[in-house]
Amino acid sequence: MKVLKFGGSSVANSENIKKVLAIIENASKEDKVAIIVSAFGKTTDQLLSASHKALEDITLSKEILETIKELHFNVIDALITQNKEEVLKEVHILFNRLESIYEGVFLLQELSDKTLAKVSSFGERLSSFIIANAAKETLDATHGESSDLIFTNDNYLNAQVNFKITNKNIIDFFDKNKHQITVLGGFISSNNIEITTLGRGGSDFSAAIYAAALQVDELQIWTDVSGMFTANPRVVKQAFPINEISYEEAMELSHFGAKVLYPPTIQPALRQEIPIRIKNTFDPESLGTLICKNPKNSNGVKGISHIEDISLITLEGGGMIGIPGFSKRLFETLSQQFINVVFITQASSEHSICVGVYENDAQKAKELLDETFSIEIDRKRIKPISIEKELAIIAVVGESMKNHQGLSGQMFSALGRNNVNVRAIAQGSSEKNISAVINKKDAKKALNTLHEQFFEERIKQLNLFVTGVGNVGERFLAQLQQQKKFLKENLKLNIRVIGIANSRKMFFDNNGINLKNWKESLENGEPTTLESFYKKVKKCNHRNSVFIDNTANQRVSEVYEQYLRESISVVTCNKIACASNFENYKTLKEVSRKYNASFLFETYVGAGLPIIDTLKNLINSGDRVHKIQAVLSGSLNFVFNNYNEQATFHDVVAQAQKEGFTEPDPKIDLSGVDVARKILILARESGYKLELEDIENNSFLPKETLATENNTEFYTSLTKHENHFQNLYKKADDKACRLKYVAEFANGKANVGLQHIASDHPFYNLDGSDNIVLFFTERYPENPLIIKGAGAGADVTASGIFADVIRIANK
Ligand code: ADP
Ligand code: ASP
Ligand code: MG
Repeated sequence: MKVLKFGGSSVANSENIKKVLAIIENASKEDKVAIIVSAFGKTTDQLLSASHKALEDITLSKEILETIKELHFNVIDALITQNKEEVLKEVHILFNRLESIYEGVFLLQELSDKTLAKVSSFGERLSSFIIANAAKETLDATHGESSDLIFTNDNYLNAQVNFKITNKNIIDFFDKNKHQITVLGGFISSNNIEITTLGRGGSDFSAAIYAAALQVDELQIWTDVSGMFTANPRVVKQAFPINEISYEEAMELSHFGAKVLYPPTIQPALRQEIPIRIKNTFDPESLGTLICKNPKNSNGVKGISHIEDISLITLEGGGMIGIPGFSKRLFETLSQQFINVVFITQASSEHSICVGVYENDAQKAKELLDETFSIEIDRKRIKPISIEKELAIIAVVGESMKNHQGLSGQMFSALGRNNVNVRAIAQGSSEKNISAVINKKDAKKALNTLHEQFFEERIKQLNLFVTGVGNVGERFLAQLQQQKKFLKENLKLNIRVIGIANSRKMFFDNNGINLKNWKESLENGEPTTLESFYKKVKKCNHRNSVFIDNTANQRVSEVYEQYLRESISVVTCNKIACASNFENYKTLKEVSRKYNASFLFETYVGAGLPIIDTLKNLINSGDRVHKIQAVLSGSLNFVFNNYNEQATFHDVVAQAQKEGFTEPDPKIDLSGVDVARKILILARESGYKLELEDIENNSFLPKETLATENNTEFYTSLTKHENHFQNLYKKADDKACRLKYVAEFANGKANVGLQHIASDHPFYNLDGSDNIVLFFTERYPENPLIIKGAGAGADVTASGIFADVIRIANK
C-alpha cells in the first residue's frame, strides 16, 4: 500500500485536481492507495481570516465565505456529474454550518482555539469529500473522515496525537475498507468530542500518521516544487533539488523553515523507516527527493533554510552564575503556555541565556518570564527580560558536516564579507546544523551568499551598480555584455548589472538589467539623486555588490564611504576621492579594510595599464619605492605629439577632447592638475603621506587661460595665446627635443611640468596617448621597472574598470 499526500496548491482548482486524479489513477493501478489532501489552495487562510473578521463585522466574513463557496462549487461543476446532487446537498450543509459558526462568533464576540480549529477543519472536510467524489466518477474510490480516526489531546490548534488509539483506528478502518482508493482530509483530528487540528501545514503530518499506521512501502508528498531543494527556490534562484536526504537532515531543514515539509511529519515515518518521496504535481516525471535512512552522496552541507519573524529573548544577569534552575524555570514557563522555542544559546559564563521564539509569541513570552523571575528582577539579580525583534534564523544543515572541518568558518566569513551581522549562533552537538540569528532584512542575501558558498563554488555572482554612463560607462557596459558568456564559461563568473544611473535617472532590475537595451530602460527609469540611488542599492541588499563610479563628479566621489561601510566594494575612475586630502584617502582605505570591501581605482593612473596593481604588489612583497618618473597624461601626450608649426593649439586640444582623451573639463588635463593628482596617488600608494598642495606644479598655460571659468572661455583663450604655445614648441624643437609633461617623485617630494626631452630618453618616443612609468625601487635601483602603453581613452579606461571588477571577483 502507498500513501500519497497532495498539498494546497496541488488542489487549488479543478485544472490542478485533474492532474491529481491522473496521478492517483496511475498509482492505484498496482496498489491500494490512501490519498491525503489539503484544503483547496489558500482556503485555510481564508477560513481563519473570516473568523477574525467575524469579531468585527459579520458582512466581511460572509464576503470571504462567498469566495470560498465559489471556488468549491466551481470545482464540483467541473469534476462531478454522476453524484452531483448528493454532493451539492452535503456541501451546502457544511457551508450552512460554517456560516452559523461565524454568526455565533459575531454574536458572542468570542473566538476560542476550539472554534478556530473547528472553522479551519472545514477546508479539508470539503476538499476530501469533493475529491473523493470526483475520483468515484471513474475509479474505485471512497471518502474517509480523518476526525473519526486520528485521536488527539485538547490542544486544539497543535494537537498531540495519541498513536496507540489512532493506529488501531486506522488499521481497523482499512481492514474493513475494500476500495482501491481512499481519500481523506489532512490536518484534521479530534479529541473524541470536538474537532482538533494538527497545526498549520499539518496535512503532511496526517499523511505520515497514516503511512506509519499502515506500514506502507512509500509515503509520497506531492507539492508544487520538484523536491526538497538546497534552499527555498522562491528565495534562492540557483537552488536545486536534493536527490536523497536522510530523515534527520530533512527534519532539520523543515524545522528551520523548509516549508515543503511540516516538521513533525517525519517522526512517524522515521520510526518505521518508511521512505518519503517529495514529488511535483505539475511535473510528475521529475525525480523529486527521496528521504530515507541511508542516502547516497552525503557530502558536507545538504541544504540551507531559514525562518523569518523571530524574536530573541534574553535572560541576563550576574545573579544567574552558578545557581542551577534558571533555564529550567525559563523553559517550563514557556512550554506551559505552549510557546515554541526555536533556538537556544547560552553563554559559557552562564551569565545569559538567549532563546529564539516566533515574533507572535515574543510579547507574551516576555510578560510570562518577567512574572516568573519577578523576585530576581526586583532584587536586581537579573535584568528585566529583553526582546529583540525583526530577526530571522538561518540554518546550514548536513549530517556529515561533522566530518568536514572549517564549515562554520566558511559560513561566518561568507556572511561577514557581505555585511550580514550575526546576532547569535547555535551549533547542535550532533553537528547536523549550524544556525545563526540575523536581521530579517538580510535573510535573502544571507541565504544566497551561503548557497553560493556551499553549492555554487563553481559560479560566483557579482552584482554591479553603475553610475555614469557617458563615454567610459557606455564602453564598460558594452564590454561587459560582450564578455558575459566568456566569463561565465571560463572564469565561472556571473556578473550582473542590477542598477544604472546617470545624473538624471536611474533604473534597477533585481534579476540583472538586459544590457542590450539598457539605454531605453534608463531613459524610462525614475528620477535619481545620489542619495536615492544609494538607498535603493542598500535596499536591494545583494551579496557581492560593487558600486562603480564612471563620473568625474566631486559629489559622487563623496559617497564611497557610505557604500564601503555596507561592505559594498567601490571601483572608480573618478580621481577626486583619492586626490583629496590625505585623511580622506586614509579613511577610505581603512573603511575598506574594516568592512572587507574592495576599493579599487586602477584607472586613476594610466587608464587600463596595470600600474597601481603592480605598485601594490611591489609594496606588499616588501619592496620600497625611491623614485618615480612618469609621463602620465595621455591627453597632454596626445596634444604635444600632434602639435607643431602647422597646427593650432586650439584644434589639437579640441581633437583630443573629441577622441575621449581628456577629462570632460580639458583644463584639468592642460593645467597639469590631472597629472599632479596621478603622481600624488602613486606617491600615496607607495606609502608616502602627501597632499596635492605639496606637489610643485609648473603650469605652461598662461595665467589668463588658467583663470577661465568654462570650456568656451578656455578654448577662446587658447586661440588668443597661440603665439605662446608656438614659442614653447619652437624652443624645444630648436634643441631637437620633444615636449613632454613629466611627473617626478623622489625623496618624498613631487613635481609636474613640461620638459624638453632629448632623443636618447625613454620618454622621447612615446606615441599618441601613451603613458609610461619608471619605478626606481630597492629591487630595481638602476634599471627601473617600466610600464608603458596606451594611457587614455574610453575603451582602455573601461577595460581598466573591468579589470578591477574581475579583481574583486577573484578575491
Ligand atoms: P503544499 O501546499 O504542497 O503543502 P507548501 O507551500 O506547504 O506546499 O510547501 C511547498 C513550498 O515550500 C514551496 O513552494 C517552496 O516555496 C517552499 N520551500 C521552502 N523551503 C524549501 C526547500 N528547501 N525546498 C523546497 N521547497 C521549499
Ligand atoms: N490546510 C492546512 C494549512 O493550510 C494544512 C495543510 O495544508 O497542510 O495549514
Ligand atoms: Mg505544506
